[in-house]
Amino acid sequence: MDQVKQMYINGEWVAAESGETLSVTNPATGETVGAVTFGDNRDAAKAIDAAHAAFASWSRLTARERSKYLYNLYELVRNSRDELAGIISAEMGKPLREAKGEVLGAADNFMWYAEEAKRVYGETIPSSVPNKRIMVLRQPVGVVGAITPWNFPVNMVARKIAPALAAGCTVVLKPAESTPLSAIRLFELIEQAGFPKGVVNLVIGKPEAIGQEFIDNPKLSKIGFTGSTRVGKLLMEGAAKQVKRVSMELGGHAPFIVFDDADLDAAVEGLFESKFRNSGQMCICTNRLYVQEGVADAFTEKLVERLKKAKVGDGRLKDTEIGPLVNERALAKVLEHIDDAKAKGGVLAAGGNRLVEGDYARGFYCEPTLITDVTGDMKIANEETFGPVVPLIRFSDEKEVVKQANDTRYGLAAYVYTRDNARCFQMAEQLEYGIVGINDGSPTQTQAPFGGFKESGIGREGGHFGLDEYLETKFVSFGV
Ligand code: NAD
Repeated sequence: MDQVKQMYINGEWVAAESGETLSVTNPATGETVGAVTFGDNRDAAKAIDAAHAAFASWSRLTARERSKYLYNLYELVRNSRDELAGIISAEMGKPLREAKGEVLGAADNFMWYAEEAKRVYGETIPSSVPNKRIMVLRQPVGVVGAITPWNFPVNMVARKIAPALAAGCTVVLKPAESTPLSAIRLFELIEQAGFPKGVVNLVIGKPEAIGQEFIDNPKLSKIGFTGSTRVGKLLMEGAAKQVKRVSMELGGHAPFIVFDDADLDAAVEGLFESKFRNSGQMCICTNRLYVQEGVADAFTEKLVERLKKAKVGDGRLKDTEIGPLVNERALAKVLEHIDDAKAKGGVLAAGGNRLVEGDYARGFYCEPTLITDVTGDMKIANEETFGPVVPLIRFSDEKEVVKQANDTRYGLAAYVYTRDNARCFQMAEQLEYGIVGINDGSPTQTQAPFGGFKESGIGREGGHFGLDEYLETKFVSFGV
C-alpha cells in the first residue's frame, strides 16, 4: 500500500495527534486504494488556531490580491482534471466522465469567485437627519469550519472554500471519511497555488470529535455543512450555543412531474439525468416520479427501454453510465427500500436486484430500477433512497400533484416537464423548493443559487448568494 497520506495544517503536512490511520476502499472492487492519517478534536483545534492567526492578514489583503490565489488554483485544478477525476472514481465509484465534469465544476467555482471577490460592495444610504451619514460595510465572518460529504468530493469542497476565501475568511475543511484522497490532492494544489500558511487547512478524522470542536471553539465563527438533515440539525443545535453562523445544504426528496403535454423523450432523458447520475446519490436526485394518466403507459415504456440500455459498471471504465453505490450500507438501504415497496404492492417494471455476476460480485452494484403502483405508505415515497431506484406514481389533476409534491419535510429540488408556458410559471411559483428544473433534469450552474426550503437547509451556495453567506453586514453611522 502507498504511504499514509497526511493532513494539511498551517502550511505543513502532518500526522494526526492520535497516530491513527484509516484505509480507503474502492466500492467497485473492494480494493484498498490508499490510507490516510485519522485525527480528532486535537488536530481540529490546531487547525482552527492556524486559521485564526492567518485571518488578520488574509482578510486585510485587497480583493484583487486574494483573487490572484484563486485564479492560480483555478488553473491548477483545471489542468489536473484527469488525475483528480481518477482519484474520485477510485475512492467513491463515480463514472469517469461525470468525475471529469465535477472537477471542471470545481475549477469553475474557483474562477467565478476569483472574479466575484472584487465585487463585494458596501452601500451609502441617505440619512433621515442632516448631521449624520450612513455607510454599510461587508466584512468576512472570520474562521469557517467546512464539512463536506462524499458524493461530490471535490466540488462540494470548492463550493465552500472558494466563496469563503474570496470574502476574506480563512478555512478548516473536514472532508468525508470515504473520500479523503481527492481532498488531499486538492490541498496539494492549494499549496502549489501559494496560499499563505494557515489560510486553508485540512483535517481528516472522527466526524463527531471534529464537529464538536467546530461547535465549541470560540475562534471559529461559522459552520458550513453539506450532508444529511440529521447531522445538519445536530450542528445547528450546537452552533446555537455561541450563535455561530451556519449554512446548511441538507437532504432532499425531489418530485419529478411529467404532464400529458410533455416532450416524452426529453422527459425520459431528464429523468435519467436527475435520477441515475452519480448512481442516484445526489441531494437533488428525483425521489418521486409523478406521471399524468394520459402518458403514463407510453412514458413507462420509454423509460424501461432507457434503463435496459444503461451501462452499469466500474466507474473507471470508459462506457460506464452508472457506477456502484458508495458502500455496503448504502446498497443495503437501497435494497431495503425496494423490498419494502414490493411488500406493499409495488411492481418492478425494471431492475430490482443487486448485481452479483462476475466482476459485479466485488462491488456494491444495484440494477437501475423502476417501481410502479407506488403508494404513499412506502419508504421510497417518503425517505431519501440515495440510489438508482425510481418510484412511479400516476396522477390526473394538476392541483392534486402540486399538493402531493409539496407534502414532504424536504424542499431542495423539483422537476416539471410540460410544453404549456402558463403552467411552467404556475408550477415554478407553487412548488415549495429552492430549485425548480422546468424541462431541465440538471439544474445546477456556478452562478445560480443552490439550496433548499424547509428541512433541506439554510442559506445558498453559488453566485453572489454564495458569497453573502461568508460576509457580515456592518452599519457605520457618521456624525458630521
Ligand atoms: P452525512 O451527514 O452522514 O455526512 C456528511 C459529512 O458530515 C461527512 O463529512 C461526515 O463525516 C460528517 N459528519 C457525520 N457525522 C457528523 C457529526 N456528528 N458532526 C460533524 N460532522 C459529521 O451525510 P452523507 O451520507 O455522507 O451524505 C449524504 C447526504 O448529504 C444526503 O442526505 C444528501 O442529500 C446530502 N447532500 C446534500 C447536498 C446539498 O447541497 N443540499 C449535497 C450533497 C449531499
